[in-house]
Amino acid sequence: MLSYRHSFHAGNHADVLKHTVQSLIIESLKEKDKPFLYLDTHSGAGRYQLSGEHAERTGEYLEGIGLLWQRDDLPEELAAYMSVIRNFNRTDRLRYYPGSPLIARQLLRPQDKIHLTELHPSDFPLLRSEFQKDERAKVQRADGYQQLKSQLPPLSRRGLILMDPPYEMKTDYQDVIKGLQEGYKRFATGTYALWYPVVMRQQIKRMLKELEATGIRNILQIELAVRPDSDQRGMTASGMIVINPPWKLEQQMKNVLPWLHKTLVPSGNGHQLVNWVVPE
Ligand code: SAM
Repeated sequence: MLSYRHSFHAGNHADVLKHTVQSLIIESLKEKDKPFLYLDTHSGAGRYQLSGEHAERTGEYLEGIGLLWQRDDLPEELAAYMSVIRNFNRTDRLRYYPGSPLIARQLLRPQDKIHLTELHPSDFPLLRSEFQKDERAKVQRADGYQQLKSQLPPLSRRGLILMDPPYEMKTDYQDVIKGLQEGYKRFATGTYALWYPVVMRQQIKRMLKELEATGIRNILQIELAVRPDSDQRGMTASGMIVINPPWKLEQQMKNVLPWLHKTLVPSGNGHQLVNWVVPE
């Protein structure tokens, strides 16, 4: 089942959180000259038109990147992320939103490698055409979870693996943990960043328990809630689970999350947290 299209959700509060974390990790990896691999298991289409029918229909970006776009008091932790957004929007109008592959494309260096997989029959060709001229990139219509077995460890022995499935199927909550285990078995020093939605809190508690039971250590959780937990339909929060985070990430997120929460949720509802699921 592949009914999810990220174009309906691009630039929402969950993307802001995810892409802030993604860009901070990439910037940390760049502190050493040695190349690294960026592996994006669930890549999406790459570029999203915010004035397009899908984004306009939900208007989600208006409560996400739309609230950051005109601010002139951005914390420095958002500098890399916002530089990519500005590069796609050279005028005053916010028209395009770059997904995780295009954020990586701009932030990575010539010596780094980009490996992208996407399964959707409409989104895959869009993604492939974005990277046609990029010699660093390999773009495949393939299952993202399989890449954790076939592409790791990278030759460079350095890397960021972003896992961002749509959670359309309940099995995704278990598949991500199995995937992380497979990847970690092959490449225990890599940085893994897993995105999750909070729709039913119980599902996330169960997922974290399963993750703890793997024995993997050094796991940081970052979460931003725009509403209190609820058993009604809909996403109330989203988060990132980061295995082997760069040492600065905890403090960077503690600096920037209160600002993001205040800016994205002026009512003050919800919460934000940075928490070690398992310490080093
Ligand atoms: N990472 C993207 C970003 O931040 O811009 C958004 C990705 S979107 C949340 C999830 C994507 O995963 C969808 O485009 C969907 O088609 C794709 N997908 C679903 N199952 C997949 C699988 N098993 N392997 C690869 N891609 C898959």
